[in-house]
Amino acid sequence: MKKHNFYAGPSILPEFTIENTANAVRDFAGTGLSILEISHRSKEFIAVMDEAQALFKELLNIPEGYSVIFLGGGASLQFAMVPFNLFNKKAAYLSTGVWAKKAIKEAKIFGEVDVVASSEDKNFTYIPKNFTIPKDADYFHITTNNTIYGTELRKDLDSPIPLVADMSSDIFSRPVDVSKYAIIYGGAQKNLAPSGVTFVVVRHDVLGKVERKIPTMLSYQTHIEGESMFNTPPCLPVFSALQTLKWLKNNGGIAAMEKKNIEKAKVMYDEIDRNKLFVGTVEKEDRSLMNICFVMKEEYKHLEEEFGKFAAGRGMIGLKGHRSVGGFRASTYNALPKESVEALVTVMQDFEIQKA
Ligand SMILES: *Cc1c(COP(=O)(O)O)cnc(C)c1O
Repeated sequence: MKKHNFYAGPSILPEFTIENTANAVRDFAGTGLSILEISHRSKEFIAVMDEAQALFKELLNIPEGYSVIFLGGGASLQFAMVPFNLFNKKAAYLSTGVWAKKAIKEAKIFGEVDVVASSEDKNFTYIPKNFTIPKDADYFHITTNNTIYGTELRKDLDSPIPLVADMSSDIFSRPVDVSKYAIIYGGAQKNLAPSGVTFVVVRHDVLGKVERKIPTMLSYQTHIEGESMFNTPPCLPVFSALQTLKWLKNNGGIAAMEKKNIEKAKVMYDEIDRNKLFVGTVEKEDRSLMNICFVMKEEYKHLEEEFGKFAAGRGMIGLKGHRSVGGFRASTYNALPKESVEALVTVMQDFEIQKA
């Protein structure tokens, strides 16, 4: 039976990425060696790193004055690296979910954090609006897609201070005006690569403004100067990331991805809104294109487990919602084909015919 992969992360990758990675594990770039056993200083691997950085810049349309670096440690390490490198007196954060709160927690180690708005009052089911970004903070941190709740901030904010964004789960899902951001970072395991690599896009002019000594490995400057090779990079995930970037380019780039993502999300949300059994969990205007959360309506709550089993029996994998939301979450990242969304909709309709 065909499996449809709705995992939130690590998550579905293009067949192209998996094939090319598997081949490189056997024979990397005609070297007769596996990518698992070759020096990161070899000319073949340096070429991979260079091309990954160049394609990343090309696809996201990154202007002059920025570097793209590939690091270890996950997005979670960026929660600390951002304040280490940027925090002087005060930082501002938008609190839109568990990941944002974890970032806030790390920033508080460095001093005063101004949480300008929070949607925690309604279990993060919306993105706060009409907040004011304080001009006297060193930077403003946002999470553009809240993977757990299924809300997304799909426009690039104008910020009077450097804007820092965790884009772990929506990078490359829509065109972004990078010039509005000082830093964009994310774990690659949602929409780009297997776990193990973290991307950071950083504008040079925000660095070098803090008094504190920064441990060498935690300084962005180190990795910019070392071109992501200051120490051994996660070679295999970087190789896979390059394959996904090539796939993106071959498939029309990010604008084409966005178009497909909008179509896929519409198919899902239309069914959630139509089906008698299910209901969406977040404000419609803030619905994510990447993580689509839904639960059973109150009167059908007792059928939740049964639907989970029914869907799994039809090849729907990774649909269980995060424990803080419950219900179901269909992650619809770039690599998920529209047919998978249509297959899930059919399953929801078949279950409705049996039960409603
Ligand atoms: C998954 C995720 C993280 C955590 O990433 P790690 O690489 O596991 O540290 C942080 N932020 C968001 C928005 C995520 O989706």
